[in-house]
Parts: sequence; structure tokens; C-alpha cells
Amino acid sequence: MKFNKVLDNIKTYEAGKPIELVVREFGIAAENVVKLASNENPIGTNPAVAEVIRENASKAHLYPDDSMFELKAALSKKYDVKDDNIIIGAGSDQVLEFISRALLDEDSSVLMSAVTFAMYEIYAKQMGAKIIRTASYEHKYDEFMEAYTMHKPKIVYLCTPNNPTGDATSKEEVLRIIEAIGKEALVVVDGAYMEYAAAKSAVYAITPSDLLGYENVIYLGTFSKAYGLGGMRVGYGIAQPSLIAELYKMRPPFNISTLSLAAAIAACKDESFVSKSITLHQEQIKRYEIFAKENRFEYIESYTNFITYLFDKTMDSTEIADALLKRGVIIRDLASYGMNAMRITIGTEKQNDIFFKQFSEVVS
Ligand SMILES: *Cc1c(COP(=O)(O)O)cnc(C)c1O
Repeated sequence: MKFNKVLDNIKTYEAGKPIELVVREFGIAAENVVKLASNENPIGTNPAVAEVIRENASKAHLYPDDSMFELKAALSKKYDVKDDNIIIGAGSDQVLEFISRALLDEDSSVLMSAVTFAMYEIYAKQMGAKIIRTASYEHKYDEFMEAYTMHKPKIVYLCTPNNPTGDATSKEEVLRIIEAIGKEALVVVDGAYMEYAAAKSAVYAITPSDLLGYENVIYLGTFSKAYGLGGMRVGYGIAQPSLIAELYKMRPPFNISTLSLAAAIAACKDESFVSKSITLHQEQIKRYEIFAKENRFEYIESYTNFITYLFDKTMDSTEIADALLKRGVIIRDLASYGMNAMRITIGTEKQNDIFFKQFSEVVS
């Protein structure tokens, strides 16, 4: 059998390891396993969300509302936009897929920072497109403009805050890049962690309406992180109606399940859960900064719900990650991104206690 030749070039996305795997492979009891690898919300499921999932359990035989009327209404209210500005995906990942399929082919390229969200590359390669990266992981105007001028990419990805590094780009810098990019390229502003950045500093806060004046810009958001719905798979894109209408042509019918729609509507209306998540996060991330200083290694100033620890030659991120895994602590090794570093999702107080204890033992 001969597969599409673009597949030769694609590495399968490596998801964070599930708790069950650590239980199976290392015989550690599930309650002693700490998963700080996938930037999930450590607080758990919002009780208001669990309630509507139960309420909707008897509707499994019916197709979901394909117009997604209520979820769009909730998002319109939250962001002060109209329903024709919105497309909903099974995670913002699915919106990334729509964007890639709508714009790319074998003659095109996409531009992104040196280290950023892995799926931009995978979706682009599925279309046979070429990947162009800037020299640094930060989103620098000069590097983006130089690469843009040279390669004329069809999509420019600005991931702010950036995953897996955790740094953010100021709203001023993002707008400066957008203004300088020609209208024939789509600029994607991926705000998967924007709630955390906005809570930390207004300089980094970008809302969809800041970008709606540009016909070639789309803002992406997700319910998977601050809203705690990673398991329900709901994200969205917000842009001018003409762009949304094109992306809609790529959307399969009923792409969001009844339970996921109900969950996202409830989550969207409950800002108190997000505030609670951010308060816990802001308390706990300080401990990670202090821990790094005490142990004399560097970290990247974080605007997200995770922190990236950077190691020198005396420490090897893969060895540390493997040793932690055997002790039931799952974090993300960044060796596959070309960095001697690891990304740790900030957990609850108790989860973080376990991380610090195990990490200290591993490195001593
Ligand atoms: C988590 C994440 C997403 C999308 O997550 P979904 O669960 O698919 O909504 C998109 N971009 C970045 C940078 C992310 O970290």
C-alpha cells in the first residue's frame, strides 16, 4: 500500500503520558501518580460542568445542535463579538486543522517561532507545506519580518503565551507584526493560555476584538486550559465573517458532541472557576520560581499555567524526566524540541509538594 507521500515527513504527535501507563509500567498506585505534563487544570472538573453533563446524559440518541447557538451566544457575550465571527472546533486544534486545510498546499509555507506548539507543523506537513522557523523561540518582530519577506508564507503563527516555553509577546509587538504582514497571509494569534497572561499583566492581554479590524487575522481560544475542559475537546476561532465562512467549508457536521457543548456553555458562563484556577496558579507558581533559584538553574518567566526549567550541561532533561516517571511524576521533557529543558504544569499544592520532593531526590 502506498500512502500519501507527505506522511513520510510527519512525526506522530507525542501526547503527555496518561496516569494509567505509569500505574501499569511501574506498579505505582494511581493516587500516588502526579501528572504535570499536559497543562490541564489541576483543580479538576468544575462542579457546574459535571452537573450539566449529567443532565444531558439522556440526550445521547439525538444529534447535537449543529448551529451551536447557545455556545456562540455565550462566547459573543464574553468577547463582545457576533455569532458570525465564531467557529467552534473539537479543541482549538480542530480549528488549526481547518485553517491549514483551507489555506495550504504543496507550494506554500508557514512561518512560526523556533520552538512553539507542535501541531502547527504537523497540520502544515499534512498539506505538504514547508515549515519556516525564526531563530529564537520569542516572537521577535525583526526575525518574523525577515522570514516573512524572504518566504512569503501563507500562515504566520503567533503563539502568545507560547507553548512549550511559557513566555509571552506584548500586545503592542503582536499588533506591530500584524500591521507589517501583507493581507495575503493569515496571521493566527493562538491565545490558548491568554487567561493566565491577562491576569499577570495587561501588557500581554489580547482579546479577539483587538484583532477583529484585520481581515487576515484569527484569534484562537480553548476551554481546555483555564476552563478545565481538556477532556471535552472544545475550542474556537474568532475572525471576520468572510474568513469564518471559508473555514466553515472544512467543518464536518456535528463536530462538537452534545455533552461537550453543554459543558462548554456552562464553563463559559462560570468565570468564578477561572478566577479560582488563576488564584491557585499564581500562588503555586511562585514556589517553582523559588525552587529553581534555590537549586541554581534557570527558568523562563511564565505567562501560562506551566513553567519551563532550563538545564546546563551538568543536568540532562531526558534522564531527569525518565527518573521522575519511575517515581510517578509525569512532566514534559523538551529534548524533542531541541532544548535541554522540561515543562512542568503547575499543580495543586499537594501535587507540587510531591514534585519538589521527587525532583530533589532525583537530582541529588
Ligand atoms: C493546548 C493548546 C491548544 C489547543 O488545545 P485544544 O485542547 O485542542 O483546544 C492550542 N494551542 C496551544 C499553544 C496549546 O497549548
